[in-house]
Amino acid sequence: MKEKMVRFLKNYKKAFIPAKNYPDQKSAAVSEAVNKKIAEVNCRRIVAISPVLLVLYMVNAILIIMHRNAEYFTASLIVSGILVVFTIFTDVLICWIMFFNKIDNTKEMWKFKLIYRLFWPIWFVCMAILSCIHMENGHIGIYLVVACLILNLLPLHNLKEFLVNLILSILVIMLVALSDSIDGFLVSTKMEIACFTAMQILGYLAQRMQLMLWMSREYLYMEAFVDPLTELLNRRGGNAVLAEEMRELPEGAEVGVIMFDIDYFKKYNDTFGHEAGDGCLRMVGQTIRETLQQRTKLLIRHGGEEFAAILFDTNETELKEWAEKLRMAVYEKRLEAPVKDVADYVTVSIGTSMKKLMCENLRYEELLIEADVALYEAKKGGRNRVAFAGK
Ligand code: GH3
Ligand code: MG
Ligand code: MG
Repeated sequence: MKEKMVRFLKNYKKAFIPAKNYPDQKSAAVSEAVNKKIAEVNCRRIVAISPVLLVLYMVNAILIIMHRNAEYFTASLIVSGILVVFTIFTDVLICWIMFFNKIDNTKEMWKFKLIYRLFWPIWFVCMAILSCIHMENGHIGIYLVVACLILNLLPLHNLKEFLVNLILSILVIMLVALSDSIDGFLVSTKMEIACFTAMQILGYLAQRMQLMLWMSREYLYMEAFVDPLTELLNRRGGNAVLAEEMRELPEGAEVGVIMFDIDYFKKYNDTFGHEAGDGCLRMVGQTIRETLQQRTKLLIRHGGEEFAAILFDTNETELKEWAEKLRMAVYEKRLEAPVKDVADYVTVSIGTSMKKLMCENLRYEELLIEADVALYEAKKGGRNRVAFAGK
């Protein structure tokens, strides 16, 4: 009976608390992807909520002017001014990073993290100062409660951040309410704080649900589209990302394909074993990411020991340069070659081709046809070289 009860309680708990390592596989990669998304979404929310904040500042300015007080008038105007400038500045910064600097999702998320982690506390402190000034003027703005709500409901927090914010905001509201009127505190403020806390907890739970959905989506995406050995896209991923990217391209856009294949890989497996073969594939995957990640998202493990990269907005010269860089980068990893006919270290042969995009639903495999022919030429020409389609 007791055991049953314990099991029931455990299962009951699971309904509310997600398993620690969910999703177990690739949890690090998944949570990293979700963390980046959180940072970006939090910054987008700053921009989205800005018009409301600016209205709040205007209401506040009107209140300040209505309760004009010589001692605090200048101070309140200064804080209000800081808030306006600060909000607009942050918006411009976020828009600039996001739209003009073309943020690279993989590397520059720390900027977003820093921005939202600085923005909300500074903003909240300014709002609290303004509230205190109103208090001195004998008038409490309801907007401090609004400020606390925005702070806790909008940014996606982890539990710790959320609890710290919640406790701090309740303390600030209590302080303001207590200094305003002791009598009132007994009835209305207690009610206010109770409703306020309930709302925040509900808001937080809704945020957690959203995060769980992101996690599962990200997890499914990884399972379906990413090759687990090299962590590059697989063919399905290649097709999906290509379709997505092509929507943004004008008809007739130039697309470059780099396709490559490890030389004598069968011999590599035969000589050093399958495990070492997997290690070599991982090394090549890593190299292609290090070399080309900045330039394109479309890095694909085409199958076995064949890989492909697709570059938009490119030309023959640039394409050959990247292909050559890639060939050198693999060589410079200095992995012992099983056959020393071509070189002492593992090498790759590369075929490249250019194509004008003419129809919308081009499959990634179709893009590769010419590069594949060029790759065959590179192999025939002696391996460890780059060949351009038709040349
Ligand atoms: P070439 O220089 O002409 O490209 O010769 P090659 O030996 O590299 O080409 P081949 O196509 O004959 O051999 C490819 C080998 O790749 C055969 C297969 O066992 C190996 N392979 C494919 N996928 C994997 C994998 O995931 N892990 C390992 N270890 N080997 C793999
Ligand atoms: Mg092959
Ligand atoms: Mg090969």
